[in-house]
Amino acid sequence: MRGRTPTSAPATAGEIFRLVRDGAAGTRTEIGRATGLSRTAVAARVARLLADGLVTEVVGAAATGGRPAARLEFNAAGGTVLAVSVGVSRSKAAVCDLTGAVLAEAVIDLPASVGPHRLLGDAVPTLEKLLLDAGVGEAGIRGIGLSIPGTVDGANGWSVGVPSLPGWERIPLPPMLTERFPAPVRVDNDVNVMALAEQAVHPDVDDLLMVKIGSGVGAGLVAGGHLQRGAWGAAGEIGHIPVHDGPGIGCGCGNVDCLEVLASGRALVRDLAAGRPDGAVSTIADVVALVKQGDPDAVRLVRIAGRRLGEVLAAAVNLVNPALVAIGGDLVGAFDPLVAGVREAIYRRSMATATQSLRIEPGLLAGRSGVMGCAILVLDDVLSPATVDATLTASPPDVT
Ligand SMILES: [Zn+2]
Repeated sequence: MRGRTPTSAPATAGEIFRLVRDGAAGTRTEIGRATGLSRTAVAARVARLLADGLVTEVVGAAATGGRPAARLEFNAAGGTVLAVSVGVSRSKAAVCDLTGAVLAEAVIDLPASVGPHRLLGDAVPTLEKLLLDAGVGEAGIRGIGLSIPGTVDGANGWSVGVPSLPGWERIPLPPMLTERFPAPVRVDNDVNVMALAEQAVHPDVDDLLMVKIGSGVGAGLVAGGHLQRGAWGAAGEIGHIPVHDGPGIGCGCGNVDCLEVLASGRALVRDLAAGRPDGAVSTIADVVALVKQGDPDAVRLVRIAGRRLGEVLAAAVNLVNPALVAIGGDLVGAFDPLVAGVREAIYRRSMATATQSLRIEPGLLAGRSGVMGCAILVLDDVLSPATVDATLTASPPDVT
């Protein structure tokens, strides 16, 4: 056909898989048209994808009354990925399908301060049990996604310079999981993976700021449809931006009045516990419960925390002009007073053009964005055309 640019090189099985996964081509004829490959070549590549389980064939009714056309579909059940989302006070593990949907999940009730060997050592039997719960075999594991609450050197798979994660610095984390589950591992910051998960459920949004407010405070930035990690993986570390009218509280990073020491869940526990009986307020869940009961001190302090968060976010909003600020983390249970403070500060400090249609909403995935984000992180890699081609090399080569 004239007017169509022939592909310079025959499309590989991995590239054909991407066409099917994105919904850009659903039949062998459409694949042939999209790639310029011969029928035989398309059939050979599709056969390898079918054999690997990445696509399935669905025979539906023919639209035009002729022979029913076999449609190829991405097979979400064609494997699994493991996800471990490490938190400061507790962690989560999950088994997910190839879309990132959670098949089975569990909480690992250990603080990160026990160190990576103990925590990830505990994650292994948890994952073994989850595989049984989900009824899926270990042979189908295609990758492992791991997130930690701090700056990550993705190339080495370790944590760098994180005040909230003592004992984790520059310790290679992937081997602690691959010794038991030999599969590719990707490691990233906890809020970065939450941003990936929220991006996946907001396909209409290309620019979003994910804010996590739990024990600490951090942000993940998606701009132009892509997660932005920055030059050294430290993009979005808003927890260590000092606020302007703080009482002078020192932070583990060496600064004074960082957002994290004034407006995090941990800071609210500290401030609300003062003047109350011992043990009355000891967790972020206690703070959220007080807000839900309408406790005036709790509502006021959470609103002030929101205003401080908004002060920092206002600068980010002016800088990157997101369409959506999604808020997650344990304190999101106190969303109303928190977001009232955030809005107050953002609308006062940001330009009208950046805020007129700005949405500030709780994240859609509630407590699941961490593990789903870990799954999406590793899926982006293991389902890429290059990796799919590499994993198919064991089967016969493509016919051209
Ligand atoms: Zn700090």
